[in-house]
Amino acid sequence: MLGKISEREATIQVSKHFPWCPFCCSEHLESDMKSERSCDYIICGNCGAKWELKIQERIKYVKLISTSIDWKGKDLLEKETEPKFWQNKAWLCILTRRTPKKDL
Ligand SMILES: [Zn+2]
Repeated sequence: MLGKISEREATIQVSKHFPWCPFCCSEHLESDMKSERSCDYIICGNCGAKWELKIQERIKYVKLISTSIDWKGKDLLEKETEPKFWQNKAWLCILTRRTPKKDL
């Protein structure tokens, strides 16, 4: 992230678009943000997926640079995508994972 917005503001934007991992729904996401770099990274501590983020006034693009261990997202590798895309995907992940409980 190159000093366009504060690190705090960037963290807020990133956590908004990545509330949890879009592949495995894990909340164990680590963000790797450094002001001296031009890109930042998000890594899922559960499935190992890794994203590169270009943040200026806002998140300009998100690029998947490593798939999950079970190859989720391999057709999205190295593609510049809208942050909104991953936000939607994260929500979809939670919604589709929620299986009805028998004892309810
Ligand atoms: Zn994950």
